[in-house]
Amino acid sequence: MAERKLFTGGEFLVTEPRSDDVFAPEEMTREHKMIYAAANDFVKREIDPNIAQIEEKSEALTRSLLKIAGEIGLNGTDIPEEYGGEGMDKISTGLVSDVIGGTASFAVSHSAHTGIGTLPIVYFGTHEQKKKYLPKLAAGEWVAAYCLTEPNAGSDALNAQTTAQLSDDGKYYLLNGEKIYITNGAWADIFIVYAKVDGEKFTGFIVERAFPGVSSGVEEKKMGINGSSTTSVVFKDCRVPVENVLFEIGKGHKIAFNILNIGRYKLGAGVTGGSKMTIAEASKYANAREQFGKTIGSFGMIKNKLADMSIRTFMAESIIYRVAAMMDDRFRTSAIGAKTPATENAKMLEAYAVECSIAKVYCSECLDLCVDELVQVFGGNGYVAEYPIERMYRDARINRIFDGTNEINRLLIPGTILKRALQGRLSLFDEIQKLNNENNVYSFDPTKLDAALLGIQKYMLTTCKKILLISVGAAVNKFLDSLAEEQEVLAMMADIIMEIFAAESGLVRAQKHAAAKGEKKAVYHIAAVKIYMNDMVPKVVHWAKQILVASAEGDHLSDRLAVVNKLSAYPPVDTIKLRRLIAEKVLKTKRYPF
Ligand SMILES: Cc1cc2nc3c(=O)[nH]c(=O)nc-3n(C[C@H](O)[C@H](O)[C@H](O)COP(=O)(O)OP(=O)(O)OC[C@H]3O[C@@H](n4cnc5c(N)ncnc54)[C@H](O)[C@@H]3O)c2cc1C
Repeated sequence: MAERKLFTGGEFLVTEPRSDDVFAPEEMTREHKMIYAAANDFVKREIDPNIAQIEEKSEALTRSLLKIAGEIGLNGTDIPEEYGGEGMDKISTGLVSDVIGGTASFAVSHSAHTGIGTLPIVYFGTHEQKKKYLPKLAAGEWVAAYCLTEPNAGSDALNAQTTAQLSDDGKYYLLNGEKIYITNGAWADIFIVYAKVDGEKFTGFIVERAFPGVSSGVEEKKMGINGSSTTSVVFKDCRVPVENVLFEIGKGHKIAFNILNIGRYKLGAGVTGGSKMTIAEASKYANAREQFGKTIGSFGMIKNKLADMSIRTFMAESIIYRVAAMMDDRFRTSAIGAKTPATENAKMLEAYAVECSIAKVYCSECLDLCVDELVQVFGGNGYVAEYPIERMYRDARINRIFDGTNEINRLLIPGTILKRALQGRLSLFDEIQKLNNENNVYSFDPTKLDAALLGIQKYMLTTCKKILLISVGAAVNKFLDSLAEEQEVLAMMADIIMEIFAAESGLVRAQKHAAAKGEKKAVYHIAAVKIYMNDMVPKVVHWAKQILVASAEGDHLSDRLAVVNKLSAYPPVDTIKLRRLIAEKVLKTKRYPF
């Protein structure tokens, strides 16, 4: 197989990747399959029988489960071997999050511990800090938490009011302030805390619970994930030795935001596992429940739900492992990144900020669709607490809020892309210019179709990229520097960008699967892509037209609307037939069908 091209973040909008350039979940290696099997076995053996007890918020049980996870290497996929971890790639990390993602509250405790709690030390710690903390965190002997949010610093994280003052003897910092909504807040042994040195320089610290002046507030009463701990953490003249400063004074934002990037990727992987679980639950129930003398799974509208849940999850999964491989490719040259200097790690983690935000938003909204349809498939039984479905519905909701709300991530996606274009790191404006110079190439031309399988869908994807660029060009032209104020426009750009990335990830995956196994075996992959693209283009057109009418007028507007109309004129696909095909497979296998 040809080597994968090393993409820059956001480059997918201005290039046509070869199939070899996009990793697909079907290409997992033996090692990947082994870590998947280990995680799966752990969940079946240790978590599933204990879900009810975990939901009682048992610290002892969650701690003992984290220790077992540590013993079998599920806490340390990102931690280098010399510090007690497994030193694996991001695909492996994704697999662990994916499998554990279906375990409700435990997934949240585990993810905060292994992700945002541990990774700041992995990527930004000194050798001494890594040596001291990482082996204990990998083993699950110590639990970690990440303290960024404050009463007046939520989405606006840099507005933190927690302060750090150097002591007169220069040996420690005195931390004062309150962090709120901290996952593992009551249980953690170490906290990654952000505070402003001299009230100004935003800085990261590793704080041990044993340091004087640390206390946790009472447990929050929450809508869901009730088995996880969420408390405030208060620092009152808390003495933190200077050797526990993380990275550099005044560079806390580099840690905070870059760790959130990777946290968003991990969240995306976890909720994708959750979505797969909803499909399994829905299909089992649809096979068993009878009304009007038939199983409800035989009804077209229930089939429709099973198919939609599966297709969206297929795209989510395709996104997750594509992004994982992109990160691995970038980290590969430097032993997964954890051993490189922190400044280099910051750059590498920043590289795919756009793709990580896409993973977070797309996959969390996929889970929302899935849990909602799951409740509907269960009818009244989906609404009562006797069944786990209503808990799954409540548990899912937090994912659109933490690790940066989906609104903030929607702003980050086009914001980062436009910033990089202006810095000359992405050839977006050149492509817009080229498009403006193109003449008469806009109508659907079957002779231009790629003869390969899904050629028409590939062509549709290319035109969606053109439609995006046309609308971005118009918006930049109209709003210039004030585009940041046009949030509705930016959100629609983000939606188009996410759809393009999802569809492209799924499309290349289906093509590769068909090439490897034959079209017959790839029939469900192919159906998923055909349905998705058929339904996606009208949405893209709707958003693009909204951006255009907000950004242009007169002939300029009508010219562009005409171009968008021409670009998007495709013969429809029989999605009813194809959805039934996918649903039949879900009903037969009683699980996520890909
Ligand atoms: C169960 C739970 C666990 C958590 N775990 C942790 C943790 O471990 N560590 C940690 O540090 N934090 C944690 N958080 C905090 C979480 O990250 C924040 O709640 C989140 O970042 C949103 O901040 P906020 O609640 O202050 O909402 P706000 O920032 O006040 O936002 C309220 C609404 O306004 C929107 N909004 C805000 N700014 C803008 C803008 N510029 N443009 C458009 N819309 C905007 C938001 O999207 C949201 O819809 C947790 C929260 C919960 C509930």
